[in-house]
Amino acid sequence: MQDFSQIKTPCYVCEEELLEKNLKLLDYVQEQSGAKVILALKGFAMWSTFGLVQKYLKGCTASGLHEALLARENFKGEVHTYSPAFKEEDIAEIARISDHVVFNSPNQLFTYKDRVKEINPHAHLSLRINPEVSSSPKDIYNPCGIYSRLGTTLANFDEEVLKYVDGLNFHALCEQNVDALEEVLIAFEDKFSKYFKGLKYINFGGGHHITKKGYDVEKLIRIIKDFRAKYNVEVYLEPGEAVGWQTGFLISSVLDTFHNGIDVAILDTSAEAHMPDTLAMPYRADVRGSGEAGEKKYTYRFGGNTCLAGDIMGDYSFDTPLKIGDKIIFEDQIHYTFVKNTTFNGIKLPSLAIYTKEGAFKLIKEFGYEDYKMRLS
Ligand SMILES: *Cc1c(COP(=O)(O)O)cnc(C)c1O
Repeated sequence: MQDFSQIKTPCYVCEEELLEKNLKLLDYVQEQSGAKVILALKGFAMWSTFGLVQKYLKGCTASGLHEALLARENFKGEVHTYSPAFKEEDIAEIARISDHVVFNSPNQLFTYKDRVKEINPHAHLSLRINPEVSSSPKDIYNPCGIYSRLGTTLANFDEEVLKYVDGLNFHALCEQNVDALEEVLIAFEDKFSKYFKGLKYINFGGGHHITKKGYDVEKLIRIIKDFRAKYNVEVYLEPGEAVGWQTGFLISSVLDTFHNGIDVAILDTSAEAHMPDTLAMPYRADVRGSGEAGEKKYTYRFGGNTCLAGDIMGDYSFDTPLKIGDKIIFEDQIHYTFVKNTTFNGIKLPSLAIYTKEGAFKLIKEFGYEDYKMRLS
């Protein structure tokens, strides 16, 4: 993609060809291992691409009613719905539209199992387990850390649930390679394999960085095949990040530059509102054509167009000075960005666009004042 001059910024651009490349790799894992891969909507929910996604993946995993509705309405495939705690007022509709309902605790399962089955006799029930092992890089993204509320530990497990569940889920990884999965599986099997008899499936959750360069795909396939053979169960993987990984960018414009001890550039986007994980993780997004601070001749501190002092993307250097109106391209801004967007400061939400396989720039959606107003009253 060459000509950015016509794109109205800010805008997320998902590149169809790159998305399909990820989907093909995930499909290869399915074919070779026999596992089913479903999309975690939490990380990537650009539903205008679902026509393509559903050619490869078997369904979606939803973190509650709204994601489940999005999946049911827009994706031909299985809908798996989990929530740390389901609400009384949502459970009937969740039961109606979900193929799998995953409970977080035995108490939640006992509370809602009959209602779910009455409404949807075909629904599969599952319990999320906390294997209490994880090498997740950051506490905020570690579902198996101390005092975790996510999943049922062995101490809290109630064998009574085995009468009702078709499967067990765990989710313990975050941006990790297959050796981290191996470690989790050792603990999971050690604690829970005595309960696998009669189960139809085990869901290995997300956080598998399958589409990242260097991920040991063949080893993942081996592990899944061995697991399936050993316990005679189906295996699900539910990646979010790996689907949207390196499939596009966020394009913004320079609005102003000035010097205050260092050169500062203000952009028409925001780290806080549009690239939230750059602050939460935190990490430094790559900017096309730039170097580290000081690496090239002209270094700028990039700041967002909000009043938050810390709304800073980082320091980036360039061969030539930046001009007002220059386009700045933040790489790999498709997963966990627009799903988390806010209208903090009333800032405009970036548009959503697709760069098609045929080489066309397709604007999918633009946002404006109404989207800000709608959420307030
Ligand atoms: C977040 C999450 C996923 C997806 O995780 P990724 O890191 O995006 O692959 C899958 N399952 C559950 C239960 C999750 O909470």
